Amino acid sequence: MKTLTGKELAAAIRAQTETEAAAGPQPRLAVVVATDDEASLWYVRSIAKAAAGVGIACDVVDLGPEAAPERIGETLAKLSGDANVHGVMLQTPLPAGASAQQLAAAIDPRKDVDGANPLSLGRLAAGLPAFAPATAAAVLALLDHYEVELEGRRAVVVGRSTVVGKPLAHLLLDRHATVTVCHSRTRDLASVTSTAEVLVAAAGRPALIGAGHVTPGTVVIDVGTNPTDDGGLVGDVDFDAVAEVAGALTPVPGGVGPVTTALLLRHTARAANLP
Ligand code: NAP
Repeated sequence: MKTLTGKELAAAIRAQTETEAAAGPQPRLAVVVATDDEASLWYVRSIAKAAAGVGIACDVVDLGPEAAPERIGETLAKLSGDANVHGVMLQTPLPAGASAQQLAAAIDPRKDVDGANPLSLGRLAAGLPAFAPATAAAVLALLDHYEVELEGRRAVVVGRSTVVGKPLAHLLLDRHATVTVCHSRTRDLASVTSTAEVLVAAAGRPALIGAGHVTPGTVVIDVGTNPTDDGGLVGDVDFDAVAEVAGALTPVPGGVGPVTTALLLRHTARAANLP
């Protein structure tokens, strides 16, 4: 079994991004935050730190956990209209009553570096240029980095969210995989996941995927990030059990996560260089 770590790929993407960022005006990313969720704030700090490391300015616009949806929408629209800001991202979770999908419609698609505006998903589905959500793009980048063949192969995605499962299904389809998407109403999940040659778990359920869900030799990508009681992080895949069966498997942490952050920065540098 091969462990598909993301650190080396993330470092290569960051190095490339640093060169791209230095080529034009300094790219600037704005991250809008309206939560006091510690895990979310930790992620935002890690983006800001990684941005600084590659020469990208990062403004964290913290509206507080009580922010009204209107204020969040206005902030996103204002940042989208600011010529000095090249990438705009809305961090989740949001205050009760605020819909990420509705609010993200206020992000200019040319600055939508985390592919959150429904227009970006629509363009992706139509095969038009768009920024894909960084996590979905990270799965493809990992598969490419490890030279996993996709054309004509059976890919199963567990999860159908608009940030991971759906855009990923489109990206895999574009690469000529035969794609099946599972969700919480899927009957007999194991019978479907067992058909996969490439299996992506993105459900947010610890240990959802066990040895019985995987056929020998399958390439398994674990997108899940589930906090544990002792402050750690586990994926959706029971790593030790599945490692006995799978051909290759990503670790959590250290798999998809670092590549996601690196790609968010690459998208920002590219947004700054758009004609
Ligand atoms: P989400 O919006 O909660 O969506 C979860 C999806 O999984 C839904 O489609 C749900 O089905 C499905 N699901 C839930 N329980 C299931 C079950 N028992 N069997 C089959 N499908 C099931 O979550 P998300 O935002 O897509 O995130 C998914 C995971 O990825 C989370 O752990 C999140 O933390 C992680 N994540 C990681 C990164 C990264 O960079 N590594 C980035 C983003 C997210 P229904 O549609 O039927 O409800």
